[in-house]
Amino acid sequence: MIRLENVTKVYDGGTVAANDVSLDIQKGEFVFLVGPSGSGKSTLIRLMLRDEPVTRGKIWVAGKDITTLPRWKIPYLRRSVGTVFQDYKLLPNKTVGENVGFALEVLGRPRSMISPQVDQVLDLVGLSEMGERYPRQLSGGEQQRVSVARAFVNRPPIMLCDEPTGNLDPKTSVGIMKLLDRINRTGTTVVMATHDHAIVDAMKRRVVALDGGRVVRDEESGRYERVTEEE
Ligand code: ADP
Repeated sequence: MIRLENVTKVYDGGTVAANDVSLDIQKGEFVFLVGPSGSGKSTLIRLMLRDEPVTRGKIWVAGKDITTLPRWKIPYLRRSVGTVFQDYKLLPNKTVGENVGFALEVLGRPRSMISPQVDQVLDLVGLSEMGERYPRQLSGGEQQRVSVARAFVNRPPIMLCDEPTGNLDPKTSVGIMKLLDRINRTGTTVVMATHDHAIVDAMKRRVVALDGGRVVRDEESGRYERVTEEE
């Protein structure tokens, strides 16, 4: 579903944020990208979204080589990929329902189709009563639920999440993780960058650890930290 082959990213200024990264992510997997601040987690997410071009290497997303994708085709890539960020990125002047429906409007879907799809996904994230509210009338956790709903409303095969629980308290974070877990169990591939040890340890999913832009560990059912022999 996602494949990185010898991907290197050098930013202007010379920082090597991804260093010869190769990674294969299968359909339906749930993968945590972990590592200290500055280890290159966000960079990998941005490269997979073609927010940034690679310096060297190849990336395939949903069957397409995105490194050679012409600029005008990038919006088509984004249809296959839902995104969730730490800071929610909701439109403040649109209601919850409008925020979620907007992505479908942009795709030119008829209103008769948008409304039931919005209702369905708001129900999935537990916000069916809040469609008329504005983002400022919601808690942080609720706002993040809206952003998950918006990312998932057209049922993309892939969800890329960058520190989705970064602004939330532990209890609220668990709610967001339950949601991402449920979405994953419908067959959606989920990749999530995080430095939240508790979440990674509780979920027991694949862990790809980065350090200095390199993959230093890739484990099935991993933990945030490497478990040493003595433990
Ligand atoms: P993480 O998400 O793990 O905190 P990032 O991918 O944000 O790491 O950053 C990796 C490295 O790349 C850091 O050294 C960071 O300072 C650098 N970096 C990130 N974005 C840019 C940019 N747009 N321009 C230059 N350097 C950047």
